[in-house]
Amino acid sequence: MQFDFLNQKDPQGKGKKAPKPARFGGNVAGAILFFMLITGLYLVVSGDGKVIPEVAISDLAKSVSAGEVKNILVEGDKLTITYQNDEVKISKKEVNSALSQTLFNYGVTPEALSKTEILIKDESGFMFWLVNILPFLLPIVFILIFFWYLSRQVKGAGMQAFTFGQSKARITDPNDKNNRVTFKDVAGCKEAKEELKEIVDFLKSPKKFLDIGARIPKGVMLTGAPGTGKTLLARAVAGEAIVPFFNLSGSEFVEMFVGVGASRVRDLFKMAKKAAPAIVFIDEIDAIGRTRGGGFGGGNDEREQTLNQILVEMDGFEPNDKVIVMAATNRPDVLDPALIRPGRFDRKVLLDLPDRSDREEILKIHAIKKPLAEDINLKLIAERTPGFSGADLYSLMNEGAILAARENRKKVFQFDLIRAIEKVMLGPERKSHLLSKKEKEITAYHEAGHAIVASVLPHADPVHKVSIIARGNAGGYTLKLPLEERRLQSKKEFIDDIAMSLGGYVAEQMIFGDITTGPSSDLSVATNIARAMVTRWGMSDAIGPVALVDSPGRPQYGEMMEKEFSETVSTKVDAEVSRIINDGLKSAGKVLAEHKKAFTAIAKKLIEVETLEQEEYEKILTAHGIMLKKKEVVAPPEAQ
Ligand code: ADP
Ligand code: MG
Ligand code: ZN
Repeated sequence: MQFDFLNQKDPQGKGKKAPKPARFGGNVAGAILFFMLITGLYLVVSGDGKVIPEVAISDLAKSVSAGEVKNILVEGDKLTITYQNDEVKISKKEVNSALSQTLFNYGVTPEALSKTEILIKDESGFMFWLVNILPFLLPIVFILIFFWYLSRQVKGAGMQAFTFGQSKARITDPNDKNNRVTFKDVAGCKEAKEELKEIVDFLKSPKKFLDIGARIPKGVMLTGAPGTGKTLLARAVAGEAIVPFFNLSGSEFVEMFVGVGASRVRDLFKMAKKAAPAIVFIDEIDAIGRTRGGGFGGGNDEREQTLNQILVEMDGFEPNDKVIVMAATNRPDVLDPALIRPGRFDRKVLLDLPDRSDREEILKIHAIKKPLAEDINLKLIAERTPGFSGADLYSLMNEGAILAARENRKKVFQFDLIRAIEKVMLGPERKSHLLSKKEKEITAYHEAGHAIVASVLPHADPVHKVSIIARGNAGGYTLKLPLEERRLQSKKEFIDDIAMSLGGYVAEQMIFGDITTGPSSDLSVATNIARAMVTRWGMSDAIGPVALVDSPGRPQYGEMMEKEFSETVSTKVDAEVSRIINDGLKSAGKVLAEHKKAFTAIAKKLIEVETLEQEEYEKILTAHGIMLKKKEVVAPPEAQ
């Protein structure tokens, strides 16, 4: 059994690390050397260090007759003779005859014999065995040890050759306090936690459920956008239930060799059943669980076999196996329907992007262990980060701390976190990205164009910040902040969003009579919204409320569009998309023309100061008679 331990812990202490085969040759040589050394040592120990001379029994008889012998010690057939001059010699007698008889046969008279002391020692003692058996036994024991040692090496090497069929699961030890994750470490996700508590209960006291005949779900599927804490929550379930957690990602299953993925599944489940109650967690299951037979995404045999094996294993569960399979994916739409039918991954737990209060909770969790200054207001940060996932918030806190550390401060301040928001959203500032005077002007008018359109159009989000400092891929950026958090967006909002996206393009054309490559990403944003309005959300009058494209999940999943409608409809769609874009251009142009003064004032200010925060920006707006949008809640992202 070979585990690839993430935490180097083995829940049952069963896992034994197999020896490394690379050292195999060296080990054999070592074993032989060891063997020779031990045998040599044995010879020295048991061998006759001081050599005692031996006499023939006939010579002994003569000596006895001559009265030269003080005593004879008899141990079995072994004779130790001490002479009158204290010389010691050894000899042997025939096994089955008495010493006196033997000597008598050699012509020793009873009188002569009586002068010699004969000591007979019991030979059946422990020493007898030791002395007599050990010389034979010891080499055999050594040979056995040698073969055992050798065979272990060979087995190790053999196991290594198999490993690609062995499960590569990482196991988290439930008793490992340092790595244990519990529900406390997961903020928000209330419904998900509620749902998963049942699983925890079952793993903690399975008997209670089994006694009453309840069937516990075999599989739980966690779905949600990337970074919403699916992996974290799965670990937390194991941590709450204090059971071993077998963790393997979908792509790890898929190997180049056919059949290997399937055998890994088998190994994984075998291990889990041994350790039960346990959780098997297959992360990113869409790597294997895609719809079978579609030939979609390479659709290879291997993946199908792996998937089939998972299904077989799950079907083969006895209710008292006490193994629960959890899986996570951010593409539930591509999963094979067989995976989700009852009896398999029948529990679905959806993790949403966190809302404002959840975001605050997540920030609080990640603020532990970070010394915060008194001015920190996590609530405000949470308000300003709609659309951020748990993972984004984690990296926000981290970036904030890094910024503080870079400036040699001992505490994290609010402005560190504010800067971190933008860094996480847009990438790092590129202050060294020097613009020529002309480029700077173009960027300033471009961003001012976005900003003014957003501020004037009634359904666009208010502007929070305008900057012509390059960030990530953007030459400059305008941050809008929705007035309130929302899950639904209306057609009017989309229309104004499109106009706002095109604001930069229109501005460049209006001021310079030319267009740069700058607005290319703005154009694709606008086009994507327009296309989705027409084909997905039924927001085009010409096409009507028809969903031409499936919209699985939420638009933020970044679905690709598939063309599955007829040529005629397709032409109609294209016409509608360009109509919407043209309307956007017109409305942006109208705003810029009407508010040209405010527009140029902002552009000029940008050239001067490079970044305008909300307050300064709004001052310019009001100075030019533009009404400010009523603010209910402050918050940003969405860069143009
Ligand atoms: P997913 O598997 O959904 O892509 P992860 O579980 O890997 O996301 O989350 C990545 C990181 O984001 C976690 O390690 C954690 O630090 C942070 N995180 C995500 N969601 C939460 C949450 N609800 N509470 C606390 N931290 C979270
Ligand atoms: Mg994950
Ligand atoms: Zn732009």
